Amino acid sequence: MDFDYDLFVIGGGSGGVRAARVAASEAGAKVALAEEDRYGGTCVIRGCVPKKLMVFASEYAELVEDARAFGWKIEPGSFDWRSFRDRLHGELDRLEGIYRNLLRNAGVETFDSRAKLADAHTVELADGTRKTAKHILLATGGWPVMPDIPGADLGITSNEVFHLDELPKKMLIVGGGYIACEFAGILNGLGVEVTQFYRGAQILRGFDDEARGLISDEMCQKGIDLHLGTNVLEMWRAEDGRITVKATNGSEQSYDQVMFATGRAPNTSGLGLEEAGVELGRKGEVVVDDYSQTAVPSIHAIGDVTDRANLTPVAIREGMAFVETVFKGNPTPVDHDLIPTAIFTQPEFGTIGLSEEAAAEQGEIEVYATSFKPMHQSFAGRADRVLMKLIVSRESRKVLGCHIVAPGAGEMIQLAGIAVKMGATKEDFDRTVAVHPTMSEEIVTMRSPTRTA
Ligand code: NDP
Repeated sequence: MDFDYDLFVIGGGSGGVRAARVAASEAGAKVALAEEDRYGGTCVIRGCVPKKLMVFASEYAELVEDARAFGWKIEPGSFDWRSFRDRLHGELDRLEGIYRNLLRNAGVETFDSRAKLADAHTVELADGTRKTAKHILLATGGWPVMPDIPGADLGITSNEVFHLDELPKKMLIVGGGYIACEFAGILNGLGVEVTQFYRGAQILRGFDDEARGLISDEMCQKGIDLHLGTNVLEMWRAEDGRITVKATNGSEQSYDQVMFATGRAPNTSGLGLEEAGVELGRKGEVVVDDYSQTAVPSIHAIGDVTDRANLTPVAIREGMAFVETVFKGNPTPVDHDLIPTAIFTQPEFGTIGLSEEAAAEQGEIEVYATSFKPMHQSFAGRADRVLMKLIVSRESRKVLGCHIVAPGAGEMIQLAGIAVKMGATKEDFDRTVAVHPTMSEEIVTMRSPTRTA
């Protein structure tokens, strides 16, 4: 049977664009891609990239104070949100242009339109046009979910936070995951009075407990009013235009903005997936096998829509593995084991592998950990502490987990991650000479275990 295309990709985020581009440029496939919003997806338009730029912006207040401690005669100024925001969006426009160019240069035909499945080999665009393809790739990503709380629609999500007309004076952030903790730090650094509610006992559930504890302490020390075991009961617009929030801890407080960072859900509704035979899981995610293939052999799915590890570099790898498998005749499963990741909290958190708690459940371990005041911050008179931690298997001597809470931890964990992924033992770390004076040298100088379990 003749198809219009070899591949039709639905979704122009990191995963979809990479798969489309590589299938066209490296495998010579005839490829089309449909995107209803902006090219670059969550990462570029409303996620990682603008978030990281906001992290940079938010760090200057402290940097100026530190500079004064280092002898510089400078006065703290004020932050101009609108000028930063406009520049930020200019940068996003530039990046979106690059994504479009990448596709054009690779010969991928693009449709600025919503697309849905009509059947196993047919996609229907918003204007009713139908296109057929031998393979269809779903890469539609995810979307923030708001909790079912009276008045929740008065709040915003991370989608809107990049577009605010002005910075709120006082803001409530709800949630204890990546996004809530990152934005609590960003907005606090920009001078917003931040309150954070998390319903559980400690933020960043699932990560190493000691790291979570330190991050939470440091966030509070930097001025975030963090309430654990607390959630929103209801909220309403007060007469003065602010949002009044009644909380489970009995408090009633008014805020200029409330942001929900209470998780994200796969974008699968209204795409004709189930009608075409694509199986969906409990959270609405597309169910795929190790090769990203759905229940319909001609349809694959990658990235957040599959709710595996919801990270840009993982979506990109899934896209590359899909092209290897389907267009290069080289079946390649995606390796989701030992993914290094960074959470851009303040202080930053870089982590790979098992937490102490998860590792202790699997076998006997040694824990090497050190927490100290780093040179720069200590000299500047700050109380900030950092944490360097290794979890080691007593039997194999392999480093099972590495957890770093420190300025620049994201950069550090990328490199430590190579050693851990290679299966390095504690003795391999010990054989490596320290780089002095740095914070990360502690990762190779911890000689005796802090504890065993
Ligand atoms: P997460 O799933 O990480 O966190 C959601 C948070 O909201 C949890 O603390 C959860 O609590 C809480 N929550 C869920 N439902 C409710 C509710 N009804 N009421 C109150 N609280 C609730 O989601 P995020 O939105 O923070 O991030 C989504 C994903 O995006 C991340 O998992 C990550 O994969 C990715 N991401 C990665 C980043 C990075 O790499 N730096 C940055 C940002 C996002 P509980 O723990 O009790 O379930």
